[in-house]
Amino acid sequence: MSLIHTIDKLEAWFGYKDRQNKTLGFVPTMGYLHEGHLSLIKAAKSENDLVVVSVFVNPTQFSPGEDLESYPRDIDRDYRLAYEAGADVVFNPETDEIYMPGSSTAVEVVGEFTKKLCGASRPTHFKGVTTVVNILFNIVKPDKAYFGQKDAQQAFIIKKMVRDLHMPVEVVICPIVRESDGLAMSSRNVYLSSEERKQATSLNKGLQKAEEYLKSGIAGCGSVEKLIEIIEGTIKSQNLGVIDYVQILDAETLGDIATIEPGKKALVAVAVKFGNTRLIDNRVLSIEKGI
Ligand code: AMP
Repeated sequence: MSLIHTIDKLEAWFGYKDRQNKTLGFVPTMGYLHEGHLSLIKAAKSENDLVVVSVFVNPTQFSPGEDLESYPRDIDRDYRLAYEAGADVVFNPETDEIYMPGSSTAVEVVGEFTKKLCGASRPTHFKGVTTVVNILFNIVKPDKAYFGQKDAQQAFIIKKMVRDLHMPVEVVICPIVRESDGLAMSSRNVYLSSEERKQATSLNKGLQKAEEYLKSGIAGCGSVEKLIEIIEGTIKSQNLGVIDYVQILDAETLGDIATIEPGKKALVAVAVKFGNTRLIDNRVLSIEKGI
């Protein structure tokens, strides 16, 4: 297991490990690892000979005023946790190792679906994500890359980019890992005060209630308006969360829908701010045909 900071050293390691004759799984992260990240590393380990985890707090995906400077960092802890989960390398580059001096190239997936959900309140975010993921893919050249369903829109956009650009990598999306009380794990959860932490479970509770209502089968249970009302009501029954969005979209296209039709998958996604901490969560819901 190695902690590597430069591309040269990473390439030397690839040579040493006879990388050409092995499959390589890649897990890009911003570090401060938790069980969600570790689930991706374990999935990568189970499907590949070698696993590279990157820890890079990517400045281009933060807007001015967001938490780039204060984003939690602890590379020693990340290194240990990644090792225990089965990683072979933690790649932890400096910003100028990733962005060449004078760099002026970006990769952007365009379409209405990039402007919805998180794209509405963070208009430059996904361009930063797709650019850095591209750069990292070019450096690491993985066979498979692992992302979390926690960031559902990001997963959708990355799959679209890989498909549109014929990128030679398979994208694997892994399920959301939650705390025992249902809160989706996130590096940003450490920002929450104890009261905010308690109230933050309302995101998952709202999604849960929406799922129960949808599955109840009562007339009109697929109404997007009604389901959104249920989720918003659950979050607003607490006093600290400020809703950024609650939206329900076609999970295959991220297009708008008015009703969750039987046999179709819907992405039910929420973003809520607790103080300066913005939390996201989602569920993919469907009702069977013929019910
Ligand atoms: P981040 O370090 O937040 O950029 O996340 C790195 C990767 O871990 C992304 O693909 C995320 O979607 C994924 N991830 C973050 N939190 C979770 C979680 N709770 N469950 C599953 N995957 C997650």
